[in-house]
Formats: sequence, structure tokens, C-alpha cells
Amino acid sequence: MLEEKLKIDKISKGTVIDHIDAGYALTILNLTGLDESKNLMTIGVNVSSKKYQTKDIIKIENVFLNETQMQQISILSPNATISLIENYKVIEKKKVKIPKTIKKLIMCVNQTCISNSGEPIDTEFYVLEEKPLKIQCIYCERIYKLEEIVFTSKEKKEKQVKQRIQL
Ligand SMILES: [Zn+2]
Repeated sequence: MLEEKLKIDKISKGTVIDHIDAGYALTILNLTGLDESKNLMTIGVNVSSKKYQTKDIIKIENVFLNETQMQQISILSPNATISLIENYKVIEKKKVKIPKTIKKLIMCVNQTCISNSGEPIDTEFYVLEEKPLKIQCIYCERIYKLEEIVFTSKEKKEKQVKQRIQL
């Protein structure tokens, strides 16, 4: 804990995303769009952790996450915790939670799936298992593991996010 504090400065106001699975911080920044933020950000990759050996951590000033961003983080890192900071103090700490069904955030790559028919149908997946993640399209019943997931990007184009970045 002490070691961690020395490496990563405290922020006065904003959000700390902690206990991110090691190697996923950059993917999370990209997927949530936080990488486009102009706010001060501190990113720790492969930080030593008592609980999970190594982890990633993101501290971002003056930013609070929305529900979509929390869901995106839960998909990539179900153990992540989100702390809201005001005046250098944690005012709220919560664990991300994978919803029972994931809507809109993920594409079904099955071309014959009704969600790809051009109809205005939002994708939806049942979460079968949280860790390791396993989800199933509610329409065509195709099953996906985490590394097979294609996220719906903010540009509304298909985007295969690199799942894990080895440094
Ligand atoms: Zn489908």
C-alpha cells in the first residue's frame, strides 16, 4: 500500500479505477473514450498488488464515470473498483458489476443474426459466466468469450479492441 502511494500521486478530485486486471488499463481508456480526455491522468500498469499480484490503476482528475463506462470496465475487468475523490478523500467506493444482460455495447459478429439484418435492433447478450467472461447473443444464441468480443465503438463502427497489451 505504501509503495503504491509513492508511485502514484493522489488526486484532489476525480476518479480512481483500481484493481484493473493487469494489462487492461490502456484498453479501458480506449474503449471508454477516456483517452480523449484533456484532464490529468495517471496510469499505473503492472503495479504490484497484495490481492491479485499485479494490477493496473487509472487516476483521472475532474472526471466521473457514466453508467456505460462502468459497464465497459466491468466487462474487461470484473474486479475493478471505482473510487470517487473530493478534496483528496474517497467519498464513495464501489465495485463494478457486470449486468445480467449487456445491451448495445457489444456486436454480434454472426452475419445471419437478426441484429445484423439492418433492422433497428439493439444487440443484447446474456452474461453466462463473469470470470472468465462468457456471453450469449439473445437472438442467435452464439456464445462469445472475452477475447472474441467485438465492442461497438464510439464511432459506431466495428472495433476489435486489443484485449490485453503486454508491456
Ligand atoms: Zn447474434
